[in-house]
Amino acid sequence: MAKVLDEQSRRAVAARVQYYRDLGIFELYKREIPEGMSFGQAISREELARVAEESPVAVLTQDQVTVAEPAGEVVQLADILNDKPAALRVIREEIGDCTRCKLCEGRTNIVFGVGDAHARIMFVGEGPGADEDAQGEPFVGRAGQLLNNMITAMGIRREDVYIGNVVKCRPPKNRAPEPDESATCGPFLMRQISVVRPEVIVALGATAAKFLLGASDSLGNLRGHIYDFRPDLPQGAPERDPDFTTKLVVTYHPAYLLRDPRQKKEAWLDLQIVMKYLGMPMPKREAESNPERRSERGPEA
Ligand code: SF4
Repeated sequence: MAKVLDEQSRRAVAARVQYYRDLGIFELYKREIPEGMSFGQAISREELARVAEESPVAVLTQDQVTVAEPAGEVVQLADILNDKPAALRVIREEIGDCTRCKLCEGRTNIVFGVGDAHARIMFVGEGPGADEDAQGEPFVGRAGQLLNNMITAMGIRREDVYIGNVVKCRPPKNRAPEPDESATCGPFLMRQISVVRPEVIVALGATAAKFLLGASDSLGNLRGHIYDFRPDLPQGAPERDPDFTTKLVVTYHPAYLLRDPRQKKEAWLDLQIVMKYLGMPMPKREAESNPERRSERGPEA
């Protein structure tokens, strides 16, 4: 039998509903969670799809929220952290066939993100290019191959990291995302970060670095430091955790390194900052140098 939510749960759901409205989602559908099963478990076992088919669907409004079991309807952070792949799938589902910003007009595929949901390192670029748009995966063209080489040089594989972008649709003519586009799509990236909880984020290029850090400095000035980073999530976002902070390092975008290969050495210094922070073994030749000391500033990417 359905029960009315207690006051605390009602406030949590109201905040969540407002969060969806901020994203442009106005219709929410109630799905029953089997008794004794967490939200994450239900998703991971693909139970929600089955239950949705078998159960009557009701539209939720902010003022009329009822659930069969209160604990099952409000997504708990613990559920998300217990099943990160499922939590990422939920974010992808919520993006849907997105038309929230004008970048939807020219895209072929939404490029969500790829990699290990439990990764220690997350690479963030600015947005998909032509190859990514065609294949629906970030960093798969020439720049992607170079990123793969950079990751391999760190002694790990592409599959070991998580890769995403500030915007998930290709900007026309590969221009940088405009502020309104980043502001609209960026919360999805913040949610991905909040699910994966990488120990270090590597911002690839000036656009990603400036968006994530909220900074206006040049890339040359942003490089060479380890920043404290806290994802900027709206109130009510299910992944919101005021206690979560991580680190962020800035380097060149691989596409820029293809245009100016002389800066690869500088990018490698940036990656060594990450490796040293994470205690990753350094290639012998590099371990003898100090990766945090930079001899010169790189130009704008
Ligand atoms: S860039 Fe992001 S917000 Fe804009 S249409 Fe694509 S998915 Fe939606």
